[in-house]
Amino acid sequence: MILSSLLEHFNESETLKMAKLGHELRGKGIDIIDLGLGKPNFDTPEHIKEAAITAINDNWSHYSPVPGFLDLREAVCVKLKRDNALDYRPEEIVISTGSKQSLANAIMVIVDAGDEVIIPTPYFTSYPELVKMAKGTAVKIQSSVENGFKITPAELEQAITPKTKAFLFSSPCNPSGAVYNQRELANLAEVFKRYPNIVIISDEIYEYINYGGKHQSFAQFKELRDRVIIVNGLSKSFAMTGWRIGYTATEQYTSKAMEKIQGLFTSGTCSIAQRAAIIALTEGLSSTFAMTEEFAYRKKRTLELVKDIPGVKCSEPDGAFYVFPDMSYYYGKSDGQNIINNADDLCMYILKKAHVLSIMGDAFGEPNCIRFSFANSLPRIEKGWRRIKIALEQLA
Ligand code: PMP
Repeated sequence: MILSSLLEHFNESETLKMAKLGHELRGKGIDIIDLGLGKPNFDTPEHIKEAAITAINDNWSHYSPVPGFLDLREAVCVKLKRDNALDYRPEEIVISTGSKQSLANAIMVIVDAGDEVIIPTPYFTSYPELVKMAKGTAVKIQSSVENGFKITPAELEQAITPKTKAFLFSSPCNPSGAVYNQRELANLAEVFKRYPNIVIISDEIYEYINYGGKHQSFAQFKELRDRVIIVNGLSKSFAMTGWRIGYTATEQYTSKAMEKIQGLFTSGTCSIAQRAAIIALTEGLSSTFAMTEEFAYRKKRTLELVKDIPGVKCSEPDGAFYVFPDMSYYYGKSDGQNIINNADDLCMYILKKAHVLSIMGDAFGEPNCIRFSFANSLPRIEKGWRRIKIALEQLA
């Protein structure tokens, strides 16, 4: 078969490549510690599972409306009011097959060929790829460990051109864990107010995995509200990665456009998962906060273990469940057999020598860094970092 030229523009996902390698090594009986993973190692809370079982028994087995069941969209509105003090109507919500599809919907309806989309680095791997798929150009603003992986209003303004169509970012950020506080967002909002055509795609999937202040969204600024597309989902906050529930919140005209695209691709997401999502969103957040508390402890331990390794620069993540240390100190070093030229070599070395999975920073637009998750259990995290330390000590 001759495949379409679309595929030529995309590389295999680094995350999936590493997962495959880990799987192969495990198959050989090797004890691989997964610090590459982007999902909580918790199971979905019981009350949400019960809701899905009830939905199956009650025969919620038919197609749902394309943008999702009305009562689920109402539940999202209640959540946005309760947790974010934001006013949305159900017509402004589209439920999707994970927030990845929400991102794809948003980019497909906003970005035209030749449009520029500003993306601060480091970014979630899918962002530039989805922009490419829409034939747009990703314009990256480089941030670094020294500035806490956040961009300034001046850097934002400098990246804006007459072709800028959108700004796409996550806060809390995967992979850096950076979280923009209210004042920082307000300062960036001042820039956006001067450019009324720029759409802000705001990925808030790690909203509740926030170790500092309260979550903040660009949608709080009245002048911006109708050109912000909030992207969120239940994967991380409710340990529901496999259930595939994401959503967008934005004004009705754009929501209708996303509904149209989604109707072509999926006809809407799984009806059973949607029924369970209503319960997840409305029954309180105690299990979510319990998970965040556990992540906070794992973060503290991870930072202690990372600090114990020479040459590694690591900022403290304020959200999400990753550390993203600059490990470029090890580039150019060798253990006599393996020469480490870049993050890819270092990840492979750590996998081969320490049997720990990680993800190279290039996948997130930051080649000096490597992403390590602390969504694994504490004993596995501790064992993993002890092994990494020993492996790195052999590099000179
Ligand atoms: N955005 C970010 C920043 C993520 O880290 C992820 C998952 N790793 C997603 C979106 C996609 O999540 P899902 O499709 O499971 O909702």
